[in-house]
Amino acid sequence: MDISSLGEFGFIDRITDGISCTRGDTIKGVGDDAAVIDKDSDSYALISSDMFLEGIAFDLTYTPLKHLGFKCVVAAASDILAMNGTAEQITFSIGLSQKVTMEMADELYEGVRAACEKYSIDLVGGDTTPSMTGLAISVTAIGSVVKDQITYRNGAKNADLLCVTGDLGAAFMGLKLLEREKRVLNGNIEAAPKFDGYEYLLERQLHPLLRCDVIEALDKSGIVPTSMIDISDGLASEVLHLCRRSGVGARLYLNKIPISSKCFEFGDEINVDPVMAALNGGDDYELLFTVPVGRYEDVLRVGGIDVIGHVTAPEKGAALVTPDGGEITLTAQGWPAQE
Ligand SMILES: [Mg+2]
Repeated sequence: MDISSLGEFGFIDRITDGISCTRGDTIKGVGDDAAVIDKDSDSYALISSDMFLEGIAFDLTYTPLKHLGFKCVVAAASDILAMNGTAEQITFSIGLSQKVTMEMADELYEGVRAACEKYSIDLVGGDTTPSMTGLAISVTAIGSVVKDQITYRNGAKNADLLCVTGDLGAAFMGLKLLEREKRVLNGNIEAAPKFDGYEYLLERQLHPLLRCDVIEALDKSGIVPTSMIDISDGLASEVLHLCRRSGVGARLYLNKIPISSKCFEFGDEINVDPVMAALNGGDDYELLFTVPVGRYEDVLRVGGIDVIGHVTAPEKGAALVTPDGGEITLTAQGWPAQE
């Protein structure tokens, strides 16, 4: 049986079917951004793992290793933030292919250390092993959250506002830019390589930032989202995750999705729709969350947050609303064919 025929949700359902948690201190197992474990009276421990394989998650021909190390830490820690938590420790494991030299490994770990330092995360362990194929990286992020502030994917309620941080799609455009450069270097296309003016797109692809500033700002404003997820696989996929776990539908307004002007500019150049880049591109590591409609003004006052739609009753499904009022059913394309 071809796994891709199941789609991502179907595959996860299948491998997790029948897994039940029997320990009293396992508060939440599979099914959210991070597992939740009860360790003391005030806070929960959070744990999340991410894996990055050469040729799938990254291409070493255009990914500086220092950036790769930094990005892997951000990607893993972002799942802790998605629980409204603080990332505190990581373990970093690596499968080394023969072509990785000591200098390359040093560069990779330089990026890991830079991210840890920037976000006050301790590197506390990991494993190293030879890899027969490409470079493989696995990061486990550990963090904590005050018990009554934990935010799951499943808390979105009808009429809640859908909110998103930062802007979306630029990381995907950055990837397209790097891929074009690679084709130029390989002599496969003739266009002159051009990065000038598109530094922002490269920055978003190669050097994503951890949005702990938003988590802190929400906390200061006394806002606890009703549900939250980080945007690693594209907005469409993440909205569908929230809808599915919360048992709700959603309306997402196309012209409210925050997309940078650089994203539009480069999209024009290569004929890629920036809205599609935001919906299906991935690698943004921004946060998608819901708040009660009564918090509309409070959320806007936080800054750097856009309200892009609202939650609906489940029977309405999840759809994108176009400026002319038309509705397009949301599908996720971040992984092989969806259910
Ligand atoms: Mg996540």
